[in-house]
Amino acid sequence: MAAQTTRAFAPGERVAVLLPLPVDGAYDYTVPEGTALAPGAIVRAPLGARHETGVVWGPGEGDVPAGRLRPVAAVLDVPPLPAPLGRLVDWVAGYTMAPRGSVLRMALAAVPGPRRRRTLYAPADAPPPGLRWTDARRRVWAAATAHPRPAADLARAAGAGNNVVRGLADAGALVPVTAEADADAPEPDPHRPRPALSADQAAVGADLAARVREHAFSVTLLDGVTGSGKTEVYFRAVAAALAEGRQALVLLPEIALTGQWLERFEARFGARPALWHSDLSPGRRRETWRRVAEGRASVVVGARSALFLPFRDLALIVVDEEHEPAFKQEDGVLYNARDMAVVRARLGGLPAVLVSATPSLESMANAGAGRYRHRHLPARHGGAVLPAIETVDLRRRPPERLPADDDGARAPGWLAPPLVEALGATLAAGRQAMLFLNRRGYAPLTLCRACGHRLGCPHCTAWLVEHRRTGALVCHHCGEGMARPPACPQCGATDSLVPCGPGVERLVEEVARRFPAARTALMTSDTLTGPQAVADLVGRMEAGEVDFLVGTQVVAKGHHFPALTLVGVVDADLGLAGGDLRAAERTYQLLSQVAGRAGRGDDPGRVLLQTHEPDQPVMRALAEGDRDGFLAAEMEARRAAGMPPFGRLAAVIVTAAQPDAADRVADALGRRAPEGDGLAVLGPAPAPLAVLRGRHRRRLLVKARRDAPLQARLRTWLDSVHIPRGVRVHVDVDPYSFM
Ligand code: ADP
Ligand code: ZN
Repeated sequence: MAAQTTRAFAPGERVAVLLPLPVDGAYDYTVPEGTALAPGAIVRAPLGARHETGVVWGPGEGDVPAGRLRPVAAVLDVPPLPAPLGRLVDWVAGYTMAPRGSVLRMALAAVPGPRRRRTLYAPADAPPPGLRWTDARRRVWAAATAHPRPAADLARAAGAGNNVVRGLADAGALVPVTAEADADAPEPDPHRPRPALSADQAAVGADLAARVREHAFSVTLLDGVTGSGKTEVYFRAVAAALAEGRQALVLLPEIALTGQWLERFEARFGARPALWHSDLSPGRRRETWRRVAEGRASVVVGARSALFLPFRDLALIVVDEEHEPAFKQEDGVLYNARDMAVVRARLGGLPAVLVSATPSLESMANAGAGRYRHRHLPARHGGAVLPAIETVDLRRRPPERLPADDDGARAPGWLAPPLVEALGATLAAGRQAMLFLNRRGYAPLTLCRACGHRLGCPHCTAWLVEHRRTGALVCHHCGEGMARPPACPQCGATDSLVPCGPGVERLVEEVARRFPAARTALMTSDTLTGPQAVADLVGRMEAGEVDFLVGTQVVAKGHHFPALTLVGVVDADLGLAGGDLRAAERTYQLLSQVAGRAGRGDDPGRVLLQTHEPDQPVMRALAEGDRDGFLAAEMEARRAAGMPPFGRLAAVIVTAAQPDAADRVADALGRRAPEGDGLAVLGPAPAPLAVLRGRHRRRLLVKARRDAPLQARLRTWLDSVHIPRGVRVHVDVDPYSFM
């Protein structure tokens, strides 16, 4: 593996260039005449008949004779990849066992082309004597004095025609200046007035700011109940980075839902941060990439992949909602951005702050072992109290049927009487309520009453989910959809297909039947088509135009609605069903987060959890507010079983179009499974999602002691088995999905 050096390479020298292709090794080239290549230089390099953008990774070390090497074709006009980012690419590749080129690809996702420049008009030092001043000219002059900008923008701002701007330019009153296309974006200002912090908040805020000024690696777990002001507190650390003229990165799990966060940031710092996620246009991504590389974007807020941006002078990484499984990337390079943020901080010698009201067991174990610092915010800001959480025992208080419809039929309901009463009381009091059910669509299953047939996906081991808004049945795994058939595809009976179980759309229907006067809104990832849709809905909530908000886990995230006093969790047991490693932890985190939406304003909140198992440890811990008791018990169970965070896991997933091809490779892997050194292999077995997108899947699970040489043993093992064409083997180190 080539290591990055700091020496520049001279013309004629052999250099290794890493290309963003799914291979591990770099390719050797020579440095062209007349240029020196810095390590990390981003270059165009010939590969066969085409050119690729790659990075000078170190001295060439291949065995291609010097005479047959081709020179690098061009050096791009962008700063070299920063050394810590190069080391991160090596590190992530080694850890996740992904090819280095595939990891580099994430870092080169938006390398800009030639610099875009544009012409701005600024006022001349003194307007030419004798210039005739019309009103329009005066307005344009004033606008240019306030803020030089392109001709069209000036004209628009001044309410004048383009010809007015041109006239002033011709007369020499306005002078053209060339600027970066993005040069006029205002940057966040750390010195603006800031909210006074409580004593607890101030102490933690000062501590985080001190970590930034220390310019050294550290990890702090910022652990505070929902509504305790964690954001306000870590803004102090961001401000400390800005005050030193350096950069800060904030990672959020769901970038689509950052509207309220962005508003708070802007209110605090007077400008928006640079935004980074995969839905941005390629042009915007390239522009942001360059601003980050040149140190002109001082704060970036982004999803996982923002970790691979080329920060020129990164001073701080914040991972908000650090416990979120969304930080685990589940396709391509399988990495956990929370964990790799810590690695990036170590490689760059800077502080990381992991933020949560319900920290992951991994972070709690690291804090317990003294590897992470642990700071607490124990109380809600401004004296707001945490909501009271009660369980509703569905065995004793089952939901009643809905009022009879026009045909006299009474459809089943999903809201039990105590929740219905509480909703009624909330409505009567003019407050808002939220109903949470982590199931998109109308019904998770459609069944034929005549023959019992269930509508499944033709490509996946999954039922089709009915979406009534769109009239389609959809597979939530592969996206395959079909119109709702008029008759059962199995027996041909008509009018026999019935929905089974509730999705959020069905809840909206139930709420409308039970509370015809209530104004209800639906919030799911498929109804929120973009940031504007989110902002609109949040605005309606804030303005009190919605009484009941029904939603999936997108409603759980970060929102602050002061008038929301009731949260109803329709099926608290849902996440426990699969029973995978993190089911209990995850359920606890998700339900506390949902519960944390209630009572953030002046009025106290109330949370009702509908469950069939009120004595289940997760439900008990939630109702008793005993987070630390729950974590301790869960931690002990993991320790006893040697499971993460005390042991490590890696999943090996074999997929093929033909089941027997998948079986052959999976069985061969099973026969050669590594043993000893603290490793054990379970499986192979058909994956719970045995067929996905038409490919048959088998899984093996490697369990390793923390000190076991996991990746090295995996490598020799996988190399020992022949993988025929058409069969794919994926390794998932530290898996979050066990499907
Ligand atoms: P958390 O992230 O811990 O859930 P937030 O940072 O969202 O908490 O804070 C909850 C609410 O309290 C927000 O509306 C925030 O603006 C407000 N808040 C927190 N601390 C302060 C403070 N010191 N002064 C004024 N408002 C605050
Ligand atoms: Zn499918």
